[in-house]
Amino acid sequence: MTQPRHHDIVIIGGGAAGTSVAASLLRQRPTLDVAVIEPSDTHYYQPAFTLVGGGTYALEDTARPQARTLPHNATWIRQPVTALKPEQQRVVLNNGNEIHYRALVVAPGIELNWSAIEGLPEALGQGGVCSNYDPSLARYTWQCIDSLKAGRALFTQPSTPIKCAGAPQKIAYLAAHQWQKRQQSHQIQAQFYSGMGALFSVPDFVPHLQNVAIDYGIGINLKHDLIRVDGERHIATFKVTDQNGKSHDVEETYDVLHVTPPQRAPQFVRDSTLANEAGWLNVDAHTLQNPEYPEVFSLGDASSLPTSKTAAAVRKQAPVVVKNLLAFLDKEPLTARYDGYTSCPVVTGYGEVMLAEFTYGGTVTPTLPLNPFKRSRFYWVVKKHLLPPFYWRYMLRGKEGDIAHKERH
Ligand SMILES: Cc1cc2nc3c(=O)[nH]c(=O)nc-3n(C[C@H](O)[C@H](O)[C@H](O)COP(=O)(O)OP(=O)(O)OC[C@H]3O[C@@H](n4cnc5c(N)ncnc54)[C@H](O)[C@@H]3O)c2cc1C
Repeated sequence: MTQPRHHDIVIIGGGAAGTSVAASLLRQRPTLDVAVIEPSDTHYYQPAFTLVGGGTYALEDTARPQARTLPHNATWIRQPVTALKPEQQRVVLNNGNEIHYRALVVAPGIELNWSAIEGLPEALGQGGVCSNYDPSLARYTWQCIDSLKAGRALFTQPSTPIKCAGAPQKIAYLAAHQWQKRQQSHQIQAQFYSGMGALFSVPDFVPHLQNVAIDYGIGINLKHDLIRVDGERHIATFKVTDQNGKSHDVEETYDVLHVTPPQRAPQFVRDSTLANEAGWLNVDAHTLQNPEYPEVFSLGDASSLPTSKTAAAVRKQAPVVVKNLLAFLDKEPLTARYDGYTSCPVVTGYGEVMLAEFTYGGTVTPTLPLNPFKRSRFYWVVKKHLLPPFYWRYMLRGKEGDIAHKERH
């Protein structure tokens, strides 16, 4: 049998996490043999999908060719990974080839599970059923918002973990603001449905976000999980769970339905012995290293890290993986530690953002000494104009200079 191809460091996924780690490793040690396994030709700046759906950002500006975003001195393997063989230090590609590694970084992002909702795959992209979670659908979200003059608009969030847990709300606020500006609010009934038990995972932000929804007249329906879409009859069915854990179904009519699909770890991660019980790639919450296979690290949406899944979190995780991975290669102790930092710029309307920054346990840790609960014009400018170039030119190039976040009272 032929020997599998070998690379010192293999990185699965060339998204926000994989590219940042590859670039930083090669910036610090240009002679390292790094391979990135990435099947897609296009790298998307996903945080701007919300703005595309809100009609205030061009979809083209969210996309760059992968050939330009991956570091030029990394080897790019254009195949999806289909299996992990940690006991042999190998990954298996879709074409059957195997790659042997000395250290592995697993960062393939999250899987969107559209078909978990009956009727949704058939209904999507027409008849008012839209989603910012797929770039091919985000522009249709804006068409739906822009063309609605009267009727019912429903915005959903599933009960599974999702990337950017604030995104389902953000588009509801943008839509409601748009209808308010056009003085159509009284003709449009907007409702937010979440499978979760709270509007946001960090309790400190909840009353402030509730006030935003109240100001726009958006109804909040918690413990409502979308389970079925009847695209022809324009009916969305929710499974509603009461305080005693009992559930029943409720049907709602809609004119516009913005869906955030249920999400889970990619199948090859769920199927592997490296996954935790929930299917995420199991790593220590602080070192980002797998407890059983010390040569395996993970970060980003596919990892088991108990924090909100965002590119902002990846920005803080990547330097930890890089430092600890280099220490592992050098047979030194792992000293870098991740504190769970993540941030969610909750767009509360055109020209305003409430920037939620927090660490493990929901401790609010702003980077700047500004009131984090205030809707801010400044953070809108940061979100729309400063973060995209920061992402492309700084984070994806492996640059790590940083302003420290901290708990402020
Ligand atoms: C609508 C929306 C709004 C968002 N808003 C924000 C925001 O405001 N702020 C914020 O910080 N974050 C936001 N995010 C989340 C952010 O984009 C993700 O958390 C971030 O991209 C995660 O990085 P990642 O590298 O783990 O995954 P990704 O960036 O998704 O990259 C994963 C990569 O792995 C590749 N891959 C997949 N399967 C395989 C396989 N089998 N083999 C090899 N490669 C594979 C994919 O092609 C992809 O390139 C938003 C996301 C969405 C969808």
